Amino acid sequence: MTKMRRFLAVFSFIAIMFAYAGTMLASGGGPGISTDGALKKLIDGNTRYVEGKQAQKDIGDNRRTELTKGQHPIAVILSCSDSRVPPEHVFDQGLGDIFVVRVAGNIADKIELGSVEYAVEHLGVPLILVLGHQSCGAVKATVDGGKPEGNIESIVKKISPAVKRAKAKVKDKNKLLDAAILENTKATAGALTKKSAIIRHLVEEGKVKIAAGVYNLATGKVELVEVEADKEKKTSEASHEHTHVAEPIQAGH
Ligand SMILES: [Zn+2]
Repeated sequence: MTKMRRFLAVFSFIAIMFAYAGTMLASGGGPGISTDGALKKLIDGNTRYVEGKQAQKDIGDNRRTELTKGQHPIAVILSCSDSRVPPEHVFDQGLGDIFVVRVAGNIADKIELGSVEYAVEHLGVPLILVLGHQSCGAVKATVDGGKPEGNIESIVKKISPAVKRAKAKVKDKNKLLDAAILENTKATAGALTKKSAIIRHLVEEGKVKIAAGVYNLATGKVELVEVEADKEKKTSEASHEHTHVAEPIQAGH
């Protein structure tokens, strides 16, 4: 009887541990990939897409059933809603692989920030990639000026500062839209850590990386661009490293 009781106790313990592990995985144990590993997967996927050598993806019953237990996407893509830039195709990813937030002009207001925060905080996603694109209608509307109809105005307002910066840098009118698209993409990516304490902390801890890219409509290639916040950080680290380390920047951190 004692042996039987011991067996039951051990068996129950193992069963509980398995159940616990299952819950942990289902509630977002993370995709088990590094920040750079995730970026490499996206770049490789984009290369396959450009070359027309897309990987065979399981989008059938088995994969759907597997995903009912939980999701572990490798990246958050914050991209424009433009029908010509579907992130799953552009990065050659399948079901459950990427967490996509799409909004005209790939801007990040509170709703988009909240979506990104959910992915990095609760799903353990290690990479955020902001994706702008050539011939973006939202950026073009902002460059063209005038008063946009209805709620489009709130998108234009959000893009305006980037367009102003582009106008200050580029005098050739033919190059203005491309410059504004670049500025807007970099600005969205750069502002993520400024506007979200959750994202900022995860980036500071090295758990999340922010990248940005601009999609070329004709070639399908995503050209990675430097994220402004990274540049600022590098500059300040290089020139004021000791001052910054000594300062109690965030008391609540
Ligand atoms: Zn667009």
